[in-house]
Amino acid sequence: WDRSKATLPDARERTLIAVKPDGVQRRLVGRIIQRFEQRGFKLVGLKMMTASEDLLSEHYRELRTKPFFHSLQSYMTSGPVVVMVWEGHNVVQTSRTMVGPTNPTVAQAGTVRGDFSIHVSRNVVHASDSLEGAQREIQLWFEAKDLLDWDCCDQMSTSEDA
Ligand code: GDP
Ligand code: MG
Repeated sequence: WDRSKATLPDARERTLIAVKPDGVQRRLVGRIIQRFEQRGFKLVGLKMMTASEDLLSEHYRELRTKPFFHSLQSYMTSGPVVVMVWEGHNVVQTSRTMVGPTNPTVAQAGTVRGDFSIHVSRNVVHASDSLEGAQREIQLWFEAKDLLDWDCCDQMSTSEDA
């Protein structure tokens, strides 16, 4: 049994997922975490914090010129967020599918936004939208020492377990 050969390609891909302040207020944290665990991704970083306006404006720097930017900033700094890094094969793209489109109006049932939200200004969750974006956002929200490299039991062979 060669464990390296049994590992999926890109198994180390990581993305940033955050439960936004409305999701925390509505006690959706557990259910959102459950979806990522259930799908098979590995949690490698987790914290709760209230984001500063500076952090938010860096996080959403591409949206700074949008008319809704200031309301987005005050929404996102209105209370604590739960920020997470999830790891696994194709996690960036798969988590975008799991989260659903930006506007919940068009989000399918079965997606986080489709199941828990009705308006774009309160859409419950954030997910990085590209590999580069994920890398940038992970570095912005986390220090490297707070991301854990750990072996999940279901990635090990039975002989190693014995
Ligand atoms: P996301 O990657 O799917 O979260 O979407 P974007 O990166 O395009 O936008 C970031 C966040 O800004 C969204 O999740 C929404 O919370 C918010 N947002 C986007 N478009 C609008 C809008 O037209 N109006 C308002 N109020 N908020 C918006
Ligand atoms: Mg985005």
